[in-house]
This record gives sequence, structure tokens and C-alpha cells, in this order.
Amino acid sequence: MDISVVIPLYNEEESLPELTEWIRRVMNAHDFSYEIILVDDGSKDTSWKVIEELKLTHEQISGIRFRRNYGKSAALNVGFNAAQGDVVITMDADLQDSPDEIPELYNRIMNSDADLVSGWKQKRYDPLTKTIPTKLFNSVTRNMSGIYNLHDFNCGLKAYRKDVVKSIEVYGEMHRYIPVLAKWAGFTNIQEQIVKHYPRKYGVTKFGPGRFVKGFLDLLSIFFVGKFGKRPMHFFGTIGVLSFVVGFFITCYLIFEKLRSIADGTVYRNITDQPLFYLSLVAILIGTQLFLTGFIAELVSRNSSERNQYHIEKII
Ligand code: UDP
Ligand code: MG
Repeated sequence: MDISVVIPLYNEEESLPELTEWIRRVMNAHDFSYEIILVDDGSKDTSWKVIEELKLTHEQISGIRFRRNYGKSAALNVGFNAAQGDVVITMDADLQDSPDEIPELYNRIMNSDADLVSGWKQKRYDPLTKTIPTKLFNSVTRNMSGIYNLHDFNCGLKAYRKDVVKSIEVYGEMHRYIPVLAKWAGFTNIQEQIVKHYPRKYGVTKFGPGRFVKGFLDLLSIFFVGKFGKRPMHFFGTIGVLSFVVGFFITCYLIFEKLRSIADGTVYRNITDQPLFYLSLVAILIGTQLFLTGFIAELVSRNSSERNQYHIEKII
């Protein structure tokens, strides 16, 4: 099979018939063999009914329904597991992404070495309250991940080589960072394609302003887990030991000063009257805490069933 289109959806009943029909038109015009995987993320409207009906007349459609709303990342993950096409394309269900982009995305993956081609909504049809924070978010992600050629990490329209989706796990709200996940998994050829974007035709956006706070926290965890997930002691241990050493030397200095003033017979302050004393106390305590945290984290990661999971590219 050439293409799997994975579509996560939550309360998108009005858009689905139009969207699937549009995809069918594009696929038939280019003679692609394809499947459309509609992942209903626990919709409360009649989306699932609509999917059941569409399937009757459109055999390439398959549907997966969650019992409750788990979020876009979960829906994508389940769709990725089910996908069978050589190229996997994701798009939003709300008709903001255009199926007309599919052929070019497919060609980019098949005819160049691209592992992932991410859409760039160069001209966006979203309110300013969304586009401005998004610019900031993209620039932080770009710099932290080192994927400098992407302008738009969170675009719903993306194409993946099949290996990529089978190697990454999208959870929490990590759908915003799939290119970063792909890079950590060793797929470094990440490209971008300018895509058309439309205003939402039916329904309302499913993400409120909380998206930015959660997005930022996820960014921190993704970098921490990606870099130190398999060796937490290197992170906590290093800072912990540094802090401890600083505290230790300050303490030595304080004791030395005190002994010297006793020997000189000069008037001296109590150690506890000096600001430095509190600094050393805090540094030693924090250092020990961090070290122990690293130690426990190391034990946890040693017990994880994924401790020896590596992405193997080839075996001969
Ligand atoms: N979505 C989902 N589960 C959720 C929230 C959203 O599957 O909990 C889907 C939604 O139906 C749409 C896509 O994710 O297909 C993008 O959502 P939306 O258009 O609301 O996001 P925006 O375009 O405002 O960023
Ligand atoms: Mg949308």
C-alpha cells in the first residue's frame, strides 16, 4: 500500500464527509493505493456514526474509536500503530489542512531521502492570539532541538516514512514535538514543505490557552528524557556533586577562618553569624539531594522495560 492517512478527530462530525471525499478524489487522480484511518478520540457528537456510514461506501476507510477522550497524541499513536502504507500522512480533521498536498508530500518521501516532511502553514488563518505565541514556541523548539530548518513544528499535516512512525511513541501532548521525537530516534533527514491552510470550516478549536503552558512543560520533559532518560545520574550527579563541592569548600574556609582567628587571638564572629555559612549549608543539602535523586532515577531507569530498546536500522 502506498499511503496511510491518519486523522485524529474529536467532535468533527460536519467535516468528515467532505474531508474523506476530498482525499478520495486526490488519491484516485494519482492512482495511489491508500487507507484512511479515522481515530475518533472519544467524540461526544455523532462523529462515530458518521464514520460507520462513510465506511459503507468508502472501503479504504477504517475507524478506531476511543472509549473516552485521550488527546490528539494518543489518537496519533494508535493510528501510527495501525498504519500499513509506505508513507504515512497525518492531517487534522477540521478541513484546515488540504489533501491536495498529499501527492507532493508522498513524492518528497519516496524520491528523496527525507524521513519526515513537515507542513509549514506560511499563511495561516488563525486568530492572532494563537499565531504570536506559536512563533515564540517554534523559535524556542527550533533552538533547543537543533532542527533549524523547521518553521512550524505543530502543523497537523506531515508525512513520514513508515519506519519513523513505527519507531516513535507519541504520548501526553507530545504531538507538538514529533519532529524532535523523530530526531531523537535517529531520523535526521527532516524537511519542510509550504502547505495551504484554511480557516476552520465547522466546529471550534479543541485546544484552549492552556496549550502554551503544557506545551512548554512538555518541551522541557522531552529534552530531559531524550538526553538523560537512559542516564539520569549524569544530569543529577553532575549538578549535585558540583553543589556539594562548593558547599564543602565554603565550610572548610569558614572553619579555617575561625581557627585562625582563635590562634591570632582576634575577636571572631560565630560561624552561624556569617551569610556564607547559610550558603554552604544550602549547597551541601541541595547537592546531597540531587545526588540521591540521580541515584534513585538511575534505579528507576534500570528497572524500565525499555532500558535496552534501541532503534536498529539494518542487520545483515
Ligand atoms: N483533536 C483530537 N483530540 C483532542 C483534541 C483535538 O483528536 O483531544 C483533533 C481535532 O479533532 C483536529 C486536530 O486534533 O482534527 C486538531 O485540533 P484543532 O483543529 O482543534 O487544533 P487547532 O487547529 O486549533 O490547533
Ligand atoms: Mg484546526
